[in-house]
Amino acid sequence: MPQGADDCSKLFCKAAKLPNSPRCLFHAASAAREEYFAGLRPGADMNHRGTAFSVALLQSLSSATGPRVGNVNFEGASFRGPANFSKFTFEGQANFSGAHFRHGVSFREVRFEEAVNFDGATFLQNDQSNDRHYMYTLADNFAANFTLARFVKEVTFRRADFGVLCVTVPHIGKWVSTWIGFNEVVFGGAVIFDGSTIKATLRGRGATFKDKALFRSCEFHGPVEFNDAKFEWGLHLEASMFKTGGTFKNAKIYNGFHVEGAWAPYDWPVDLKGGFYEHRMLGFGDDLRGGGDYRR
Ligand SMILES: [Zn+2]
Repeated sequence: MPQGADDCSKLFCKAAKLPNSPRCLFHAASAAREEYFAGLRPGADMNHRGTAFSVALLQSLSSATGPRVGNVNFEGASFRGPANFSKFTFEGQANFSGAHFRHGVSFREVRFEEAVNFDGATFLQNDQSNDRHYMYTLADNFAANFTLARFVKEVTFRRADFGVLCVTVPHIGKWVSTWIGFNEVVFGGAVIFDGSTIKATLRGRGATFKDKALFRSCEFHGPVEFNDAKFEWGLHLEASMFKTGGTFKNAKIYNGFHVEGAWAPYDWPVDLKGGFYEHRMLGFGDDLRGGGDYRR
């Protein structure tokens, strides 16, 4: 096959080519795709940078690899339907930077054994242009579900964009239509959310942060809940904005609670009741009120 004659750059597609085809997984001929799938083994490395995934294509890929994968590159990939990685083990590095999850993604009970990168990723649930339809499907409406996931090493979500969307329902008021789930997650390495925008409800009940937790310069449009969470190497909320407040009830924060320049509205404060802070709050944080037990 002459080089370039059949590649998908003609289709303005810059996605990574399959090893056995001049085309990406999405644009490959079905024979090449089947051959590629047949060659995948559990724990395989994969490069699907920039690739478009329908639900069916992602399902075919995950049934070809099984739930164990190696180094995976989904940088800039676009997931056009719900993406399901639940119970996967990522044995190598996972790169989802700039990925676009249009209809939610589940990483429930996933194990990430190496560093994970979600910098600049977009997590949406459903089509924002169609929110009128979706305001009735709010239950379990996760834009991203990491419930019970385990990150052995660092994970970054720098300048990521999470979730739709505060909708105004007539006679009811404002509803936050999507969830970001981090309940009971264990983060073994540093967690970096700096500069992220979280439009959904963020739930991190009972999450454990064994290393630094950096949520600096974030915008939280929906409520934030880290009740019973444990931050072992400091929690950084500097310059973050909690537009509808949050709760950190009974949270344990060791090695510094940094809130300089963080802000929450008077009517929707960040509730710190029952929390334990091994070091006093560092910074002003006048608007993050609560009855925590500050110790030094
Ligand atoms: Zn392509």
